[in-house]
Amino acid sequence: MAKCSKCGSKAVIKIPYARMNLCEKHFIEYFEGRVAATIEKYGLLREGESVLVAVSGGKDSVALLSALTAIAPELRLKIIPLHIHLGLGEYSDESLSVVKEVSRKLGVNTYILNLEEAVGAAIPELSAKSNRPPCAVCGLVKRYVLNAAAIEWGVDAVATGHHIDDLAPYALKNMLLGDMSAALKLAPVTTGEEGYLARRVRPLYEVTERECLIYVIVKGLPFVRTLCPNTFLGGMDALIRKFLYELDLRHPGVKLRFMRSLAKTATGRSTDQARIQAELTRCKYCGLPSRSDVCGFCRLTERVLGSPAGPRVREVLRRLQPLHAK
Ligand code: SF4
Ligand code: ZN
Ligand code: ZN
Repeated sequence: MAKCSKCGSKAVIKIPYARMNLCEKHFIEYFEGRVAATIEKYGLLREGESVLVAVSGGKDSVALLSALTAIAPELRLKIIPLHIHLGLGEYSDESLSVVKEVSRKLGVNTYILNLEEAVGAAIPELSAKSNRPPCAVCGLVKRYVLNAAAIEWGVDAVATGHHIDDLAPYALKNMLLGDMSAALKLAPVTTGEEGYLARRVRPLYEVTERECLIYVIVKGLPFVRTLCPNTFLGGMDALIRKFLYELDLRHPGVKLRFMRSLAKTATGRSTDQARIQAELTRCKYCGLPSRSDVCGFCRLTERVLGSPAGPRVREVLRRLQPLHAK
């Protein structure tokens, strides 16, 4: 068994691009240090800021919440976890119980938003009645709720658990399809606008999926092990993911260099973000960002339920209490 490059005890992980083997203790230090360094390097969060952390209960979001909680005192960050119960049957129920257990273990006060209670319909119904794929509806709902919560609670930024193995294949796919602006949206940070659009940050930008998995295991944290029933593992995404995985095995660090150069290009093109934001207007129902007079969430819910649910969701979020306060 390989030995830890720092202390000589039993290693639990090999990190090829850093040419290191690490034991549990030094891997935890390494992972949390990498998240802190990403925050500093890309200016994701400033000292004393509050950050809404999207927690689905999967290994990546659990790793994100744990790492941010660990580094919060040093950066004086206020961590506000939010879990959205999407109404996806047993998968959602299991996710909720995992999030409760993780919150208890980490000692954080998590907010839970039940979509069915807040909107009057969960993902399967919204998808079936709108004739749109569940994942498209789910993505729209999650983006809307996270932004609305950040605005209602006056939070500085929204953090999501996207790691390099989520982002790199998607970035490459968009480039291959000639959509450079979609690729550049995968930067570590997107700017926000006070009272309207929350800044979005990706503190796991430089860590891999495998590192997230080992981190939550060595931290002794639970995570949802079953896949959402709507998970689709085929198509072009899966091929690109496999290609990048194999490429990185032969040339360790190539994925990281690719995403670093993308981040650099995105920073150099910050005027693109400003231009996209300048094209946004306020939804006439809920007041949140929209490309036309009605935002995607209000349009979807108006079509399915007969009235736009944006204002109601904002009201529910305003009154929501975290787990421990109940
Ligand atoms: Fe939502 Fe699709 Fe992910 Fe399931 S697989 S949680 S429906 S985005
Ligand atoms: Zn060690
Ligand atoms: Zn709206």
